[in-house]
Amino acid sequence: MPNIKFPIYLDNHATTPLDPRVLEEMMPYFTSDFGNAASMDHVYGAKASEAVERARERIGRTINARPEEIVFTSGATESDNLALLGISRQYADEGDHIITCVTEHTAILDTCKYLERAGKKVTYLPVDQFGLIDTEELEAAITDKTILISIMTANNEIGTVAPVKEIGKIAHEHNIIFHTDAAQAVGHIPIDVEEMNIDLMSFSAHKVNGPKGIGAIYVRRRNPKVKLSPIIFGGGHERGMRSGTLNVPGIVGFGKGLEIARREMEKDRMKFTKWTKQMFESFKKQLSDRVQLNGHPSKRLPHNLNVFFEGVESKALIPLVRNEVAISAGSACTSDLVEPSHVLMSLGFGESRAHSSVRFGLGRFNTDEEILYVIGKMPRAIKALESVNA
Ligand SMILES: *Cc1c(COP(=O)(O)O)cnc(C)c1O
Repeated sequence: MPNIKFPIYLDNHATTPLDPRVLEEMMPYFTSDFGNAASMDHVYGAKASEAVERARERIGRTINARPEEIVFTSGATESDNLALLGISRQYADEGDHIITCVTEHTAILDTCKYLERAGKKVTYLPVDQFGLIDTEELEAAITDKTILISIMTANNEIGTVAPVKEIGKIAHEHNIIFHTDAAQAVGHIPIDVEEMNIDLMSFSAHKVNGPKGIGAIYVRRRNPKVKLSPIIFGGGHERGMRSGTLNVPGIVGFGKGLEIARREMEKDRMKFTKWTKQMFESFKKQLSDRVQLNGHPSKRLPHNLNVFFEGVESKALIPLVRNEVAISAGSACTSDLVEPSHVLMSLGFGESRAHSSVRFGLGRFNTDEEILYVIGKMPRAIKALESVNA
């Protein structure tokens, strides 16, 4: 079939395919320009260093940060760990309390669990049926020992986008540092660290059609200057915050990926909005009121569609379509488990809805033909399942 690549990849919240333009820009840094960006004595090192600084500038521009506020890491997992551990160690004399929320990625939740075992205090804010925290509850949870608020910009399962600017404003009114995990948001929706009152932000290249194993943390340098105690020690790279030889091809790809995303964001957003609307409306038409949206109807990532198919077990549905459609029930890290998703459970609808929901994550390289195919395929598969069970 023209313009369809089977299985149709609709799991772009787990990872995205590398954009060919990104690969092209990375290639020389695997071969001829292989230098260590910290080797300042010769042209090999200088070339690598120049490429890293160009990428740092491109990445900064995408989020309205200065280049020196970008610290490269191995990905958003490491950035999340560095934010939480780095702040709790750096500011231990000022307090021991962190506020986060129940729908965070495991990179946040598991690090918080570790910190609790180490004697720190963590408040996990609940969310409403759309996946939003209540900012009044956030304000009420603040104590004079609170040193960090960490709330994700956009959820990786249900796509709900948090009121980041307002959360940051509350944090700053109380002199508290604000971190956000924006791995799903950067490159997909406009992010401005100044306007949105963000002090620390985790993000990753492979969620924006860049390579895996490279990410960054934005660390604010002015109003206020945020200090981060390192979690990896060594040669003092990245101004001492993250030692280790820089992944030059990865960094180049990260910069190119965000440069493209910045330019094509609006075009991609319109495409995704059209497709998710088409898909959801068509599922509803074909399966009637047994179809419901998970997450917020408007405050959501354009490329996310998380759907509850009442009475249909996702662990039966997903394998049934696996030759044609690559989709997931939720987070890539937990999809092997029979445990229901902690994100869906936190919405308060109970286990059966959590077991009957499917996440569609759209991407830049999907086509109209692929979306139309999925629109036809999913209801057919669901009806086939139901006739077997009946
Ligand atoms: C993918 C993702 C991560 C992990 O990022 P890696 O770069 O794969 O370590 C963390 N948080 C969120 C919200 C994500 O979507």
